[in-house]
Amino acid sequence: MNITIAGTGYVGLVTGVCLAELGHQVICSDIQEEKIAMLQSGRSPIYEPGVEDLLEKNVACGRLHFTTNSQYAYGNAEIIFIAVGTPEQQDGTANLAYVREVAHSIAQFMKNDVIVCTKSTVPVGTNDQISEIIHRHKPANLHAEVVANPEFLREGSAVVDFFYGDRIVIGTDCSKAAAIIEQIYLPLDIPIIKTDLKSAEMIKYAANAFLATKISFINEIAMICEKVGANIEEVTNGIGKDQRIGPYFLQAGIGYGGSCFPKDTKALVQLAGNNQHSFDLLKAVIEVNNRQASLPVSKAKEVIGSLKSKKVTLLGLSFKPNTDDVRQAASLSIIKELLKEGAIITAFDPIAMSNALQVLGNTIEYTQDIRHALLHADVAIIATEWEEIKQIPLDFFELYMKKPIVIDGRNCYSLKEIRKHRITYISIGRPIVT
Ligand code: NAD
Repeated sequence: MNITIAGTGYVGLVTGVCLAELGHQVICSDIQEEKIAMLQSGRSPIYEPGVEDLLEKNVACGRLHFTTNSQYAYGNAEIIFIAVGTPEQQDGTANLAYVREVAHSIAQFMKNDVIVCTKSTVPVGTNDQISEIIHRHKPANLHAEVVANPEFLREGSAVVDFFYGDRIVIGTDCSKAAAIIEQIYLPLDIPIIKTDLKSAEMIKYAANAFLATKISFINEIAMICEKVGANIEEVTNGIGKDQRIGPYFLQAGIGYGGSCFPKDTKALVQLAGNNQHSFDLLKAVIEVNNRQASLPVSKAKEVIGSLKSKKVTLLGLSFKPNTDDVRQAASLSIIKELLKEGAIITAFDPIAMSNALQVLGNTIEYTQDIRHALLHADVAIIATEWEEIKQIPLDFFELYMKKPIVIDGRNCYSLKEIRKHRITYISIGRPIVT
């Protein structure tokens, strides 16, 4: 089929290259000239394992194209996936301006009947608005059907998630449109859930809110473990074996970040509030998460006192491993607090340093060399559980740091291994090792 993707970011690019891999003719469109120019030259503007190989292969066989020209993008499309951003606004609601803009462009440039499939995470009722915009402005002789098709990929494993996801949600009251979208996904052999529009929109928010709740819940238990001398890892192992609970998403740490959980939890609180329901549980989840990110700095101050002019090594900048995405990363709030305390920061990250540089500028030092990062440091803080960080030989902390003090916000190392070294080691929800 002729498919166009509106928005070539983490979701749009992955969807585009993967649909091309399934044999469709795909045009990925974006408003950012540099992004499209980079893609046209065969390079991916994002770090996402597997994307560049699929990009190269599908461009070479003529199935994948990139453009900033909306007329070219929407003119011949049979299916258009909307994958533009829906960032958080100051009041916590989702900014739908980009989604609306795409709806207007589709109506303006469509030349045949089209199915518009929304992958962007949008509050309940938004797809009705998209439909309304398109129907108001499109040529009268053409038909457009809007389908909610929320995206569940995880950055860092997005290509694998496309091909082996847990489920695909198709939300529409139009059985013909649902059948066409189902055909696209059928080769993947992933369970397909068909719902009405509003339930599909709600599924995405409910899923993210539930996952965020699991994280904040276990972080609360971790806080109590610290107070009473229990070990959160023993506890999660013990509760995770219960099939009603499951072992996933129970890692204690300095909280969730990224471009989805923080904004989607706030948007759901707002959506509930706009509909006369105070979502108290989710409000607490958000509050707990905000507190977690401030733990490393308070723990560091407890051990070494004032951080003024102290050298702090920050290990990990991305919001999670295997991505270059630093949006709402815990590292950013830690750095902000450290700078306020007057600390001097050297950061290491295997992939995300250039994105961090765009946000933080030269307020911190960046290095690809872990030894240099640790050299003469007063304290090291681990913000992301990259494999490169988990594999740091523990004697590096002893050899290079002024005093080996490690605040591990992601519980990267086993306490048994740590005890073989002379390291002061403070993690989350586990006994302190001195
Ligand atoms: P992103 O910021 O990486 O990409 C969005 C892209 O849309 C940008 O390149 C931007 O230039 C482009 N864009 C904006 N207006 C446009 C327009 N009028 N026409 C064409 N392109 C336009 O965002 P993302 O992380 O890919 O997220 C996209 C949506 O998917 C969001 O709603 C997000 O909540 C949702 N989502 C994201 C993830 C994730 O892990 N990133 C997972 C599931 C769902």
